[in-house]
Amino acid sequence: MKTLVNLHRKLTPRLAERLHSCLNSARAPAPRVWPVAVIECIERLLRLETKAHSRGWFAAAAIVRSQLQSALTDLQERLAQLRSQVDLQPPSTSSLRDLIADINALQSEFEQVEVNLSTSTLAVTTRPIVLEDVFLGPFKIALSFSAGQSSTSYTVTALEPHPAASDDAITHPHIQDGHLCEGEGRLPLQRALEDGRIFDVFQIIQQILTTYNSGSAYVSLDDWHGVPCVTCGMSTSDDERTSCQLTGEMLCWECAVSCSDCERTLAPDRTECCSECDDQFCSACLDQGICHACQDEIETEAESVLPAGANAPVHAVCLEQTALSTGPG
Ligand SMILES: [Zn+2]
Ligand SMILES: [Zn+2]
Ligand SMILES: [Zn+2]
Repeated sequence: MKTLVNLHRKLTPRLAERLHSCLNSARAPAPRVWPVAVIECIERLLRLETKAHSRGWFAAAAIVRSQLQSALTDLQERLAQLRSQVDLQPPSTSSLRDLIADINALQSEFEQVEVNLSTSTLAVTTRPIVLEDVFLGPFKIALSFSAGQSSTSYTVTALEPHPAASDDAITHPHIQDGHLCEGEGRLPLQRALEDGRIFDVFQIIQQILTTYNSGSAYVSLDDWHGVPCVTCGMSTSDDERTSCQLTGEMLCWECAVSCSDCERTLAPDRTECCSECDDQFCSACLDQGICHACQDEIETEAESVLPAGANAPVHAVCLEQTALSTGPG
């Protein structure tokens, strides 16, 4: 531990220096341009105008004068632009001293702070994060930058990933594939990065990680562990499940059954088999245990043995009685 502290003491100022130069190159002013070409053009037109007048070429002199007017307008605009560039206040940046103080302060706020000179990275480890009783584990926030380059970027990585049941790439409701959805924290984070307020940068990211916004979550915490299928108990994600249209209970696609008649989706225990064809139906599509199609078939068969003209279905027993009564009498 002592060596780590000593290492920090040695590395922190060097890393801060590199970060300072990176932040400063990001805010170096845009190059100022003196409008030489426009001025040279005006000088040439002025000479031409004098020459045209002295020779009595009045039409040519009029053309030169109008060219001169637009060149002067151009010069005015360029000078005004240059003036506003020079007048602009350079934005304030954290001093080297502030940066060192910030990096040191991180050590009291976070579990672990890593200073890596070879990769120009400053990283912190958060405490294990728990959102609405869902344990997500600790996260590493790493800020990278390099001197001479005018950009800083950060990554957020789950150190002991507890991803959503439906997607391993989602290690936090607001992280997908290592990308943090900053939500309302975006603007303050951008400002803190621009101003070089390093302590604030890490704190804002930590705050985003410890705040849950169900509206912008990649996977909601309610569904984090998936929803169990009411039949087999398997954990399912949004696109792996459906629901029983009679009871609303969650079903995985494997367990879901559809009624062979009305095609409603049902849990297996909400269906019955037709005693004739053995297909599965909802109770509404069975009449005394027989499906409509099988009933139709039975009726057609019964009609085929009836004498012509008889239209009411007649049971076999009744047919026998009819035969008896029309017999020897
Ligand atoms: Zn199931
Ligand atoms: Zn049905
Ligand atoms: Zn049937």
